[in-house]
Amino acid sequence: MSVILDQASSGLSVVSGNRNWLPFFMSDDNVSMSGRGGPSTETPMLTVGNDEAEVERRLSEGRLECPVCAAPLRGWGHGRVRVIRLAGGTGWRARPRRAICAGCGTTHVLLPAGMLARRADSAAVIGAALAGAAAGLGHRTLAARLGRAASTVRGWLRRLASRAEPLRSAFTALACALDADPLLPGPAGSPLADAVAAILAAAAAAARRWGAVASAVSPWELASAVTSGGLLCPGPAVQMINTSCPW
Ligand SMILES: [Zn+2]
Repeated sequence: MSVILDQASSGLSVVSGNRNWLPFFMSDDNVSMSGRGGPSTETPMLTVGNDEAEVERRLSEGRLECPVCAAPLRGWGHGRVRVIRLAGGTGWRARPRRAICAGCGTTHVLLPAGMLARRADSAAVIGAALAGAAAGLGHRTLAARLGRAASTVRGWLRRLASRAEPLRSAFTALACALDADPLLPGPAGSPLADAVAAILAAAAAAARRWGAVASAVSPWELASAVTSGGLLCPGPAVQMINTSCPW
């Protein structure tokens, strides 16, 4: 099942499909690779699980599909090495896999769900800050707790706040797509808190729908996965192209 939601349509489009796994597609990003904003001429990015061996297995078995044409992807080298900062200050040295479509020839970067596009900190660390802000903590307090620069944390919170309503709407729709009777949150006191509550509600719905495999990942990894790493990307549109279990 795929869910596509953006501000332009202000609607939910549910596309039927029943693949076990379909990568998420985001037309943007790789700005960190091309180094410039604006429309990307680089490859689209997909989000995959954090397990490199599993990603290789799926590639070799033709179980990763091109988001453009749905033909199988195969390995096509690697992206540049990135060091992602985890909680506690340790680094995660990641070298995202690249893949090329056997059908249309488009190349894609496979972004582990533990990362967010354009961010040097892990999805879990950034998510902890967002959850803390939703609980009423300020960016300086959060920065001290997380060992990050105040300006960095403030940037995360501002970006989330700037697209809080589209995110709230998209994740609420996702929760409803995953669960016929989702536990939807009431008003949480601010647009940012409402967005965080919707993300957590969608994660809970995913856990009910997909069981242990989804429960094993954090809500923020799920949020990265369903937005192709674009949780904190610029712009009001929120694109989710898949509610199939990514793990
Ligand atoms: Zn293709």
